[in-house]
Amino acid sequence: MRDVLVVGAGPAGAACAYWLADAGWDVVVVEKKQFPREKTCGDGLTPRSVRQLTDMGLAGALAGAHRYRGLRSCAYGMTIEMPWPRHPSFPDVGYVITRHDLDQLVAERAAKAGAELLQGTEAAEPLLADEPGDGPGQLPACTGALVVDRGTRRTRKIEARYVVVADGANSRFGRALGTRRDRDYPLGMALRGYFRSPRHDDEFIESHLDIRDASGSVVPGYGWVFPLGDGRVNAGVGLLSTDGRHKGVNTSHLMNAFVDFAPKSWGLSLASSCGPPTGGKLPMGLSVAPRVGPTTLAIGDASGAINPFNGEGIAYGYETGRLAAACLGRALSGQGSAALGDYERQVQDAYGLYYQVARDFVRMISHPKVMEVCVRTGMHSEGIMGTLLKIMGNLLRPDERGAAEIAYRALATAATVVPSW
Ligand SMILES: Cc1cc2nc3c(=O)[nH]c(=O)nc-3n(C[C@H](O)[C@H](O)[C@H](O)COP(=O)(O)OP(=O)(O)OC[C@H]3O[C@@H](n4cnc5c(N)ncnc54)[C@H](O)[C@@H]3O)c2cc1C
Repeated sequence: MRDVLVVGAGPAGAACAYWLADAGWDVVVVEKKQFPREKTCGDGLTPRSVRQLTDMGLAGALAGAHRYRGLRSCAYGMTIEMPWPRHPSFPDVGYVITRHDLDQLVAERAAKAGAELLQGTEAAEPLLADEPGDGPGQLPACTGALVVDRGTRRTRKIEARYVVVADGANSRFGRALGTRRDRDYPLGMALRGYFRSPRHDDEFIESHLDIRDASGSVVPGYGWVFPLGDGRVNAGVGLLSTDGRHKGVNTSHLMNAFVDFAPKSWGLSLASSCGPPTGGKLPMGLSVAPRVGPTTLAIGDASGAINPFNGEGIAYGYETGRLAAACLGRALSGQGSAALGDYERQVQDAYGLYYQVARDFVRMISHPKVMEVCVRTGMHSEGIMGTLLKIMGNLLRPDERGAAEIAYRALATAATVVPSW
């Protein structure tokens, strides 16, 4: 019987395994793929991710990655460059690094700290206790997983006192346990591709806030170009769907339109493309629940932890993985499954209000006209955009608390009092 079984070794699972192993617990993490492996992503690390990687002892490993200073926002012919703000808890730099390289680094770090990393091993189904557990949540008590070695096809049981669900956006293991995504919450859909680019070492990542659908209407979402520093850029489009709206928008068409529309200096074209784009879903705003069962915790995308403001999920994978590891440590130290309930409280403390504002904001900008008014309002003021960067990157200082709500209300007011441009 192991202390903890972690299902999935992406950012969330690998970070959770690292912090558990670092604290001396017996942790096994199963990953269905072999590292290094591709993972569809924009590959952008914000200061929040850099902080977590630094805390895991990986600052040196980032030295080979492309370091950038901030965000360049473009819309309606206007451009604003915003360096990352100064913050007492976060560095003022970000990196762009492929998930092919990044996820291997973190998984190996967890293994070096003492976690057993089983690659090419899929958790096929949860093992359920005969008796329901006496802890919090409505999930059944889980005692481990039936795992399949994808090479030999051999199956075996891994039993553990606690199980962490870190299997990403589709979370089949989580669904088998009983987690569900609330369809009333916004959902992101994004597509990305790699392109050879003369501006591969640009000092800023770039976002375009006025991407359009086939009818020429601005859609809620953004196009991005993130320089990788290795001759390539990662370019893509993300779309937010709320209340079923924008479900019909074809992201492949949106991507093609963005490749045509992006500034020619990036050199995006069919000829510079390194391969067909790939896409994925972004469960956001804590849309997946329950996150706590008598013996289980869900983290990262499997808990819908992506930030609705900007589609960032790597940092929230690392952070929820770390929070989960701390709660499991207390559970294993004698507090039992009651300590798992702390995880939900800490997640709510850390993100509850912020994500509520973010969800409202997303709902508001899903009206094309409102989106346009907000973007035009913001782009006229470096002050507003600077504040927005802090809000959207979740980089407000403690003394700036409440500013998210103030800015949201200001934008909401702007959207109602300025009917059209
Ligand atoms: C197009 C796109 C662009 C994005 N761009 C950014 C960005 O620039 N910056 C950012 O911060 N976020 C970005 N995101 C979000 C980010 O990719 C996710 O939030 C992040 O990967 C979540 O980490 P995770 O560990 O929860 O899940 P994942 O990264 O999905 O990891 C889950 C892991 O579990 C494994 N697994 C799944 N099922 C099983 C199983 N049954 N048994 C064993 N292993 C299993 C998978 O192979 C995978 O390795 C983007 C997402 C998309 C789709």
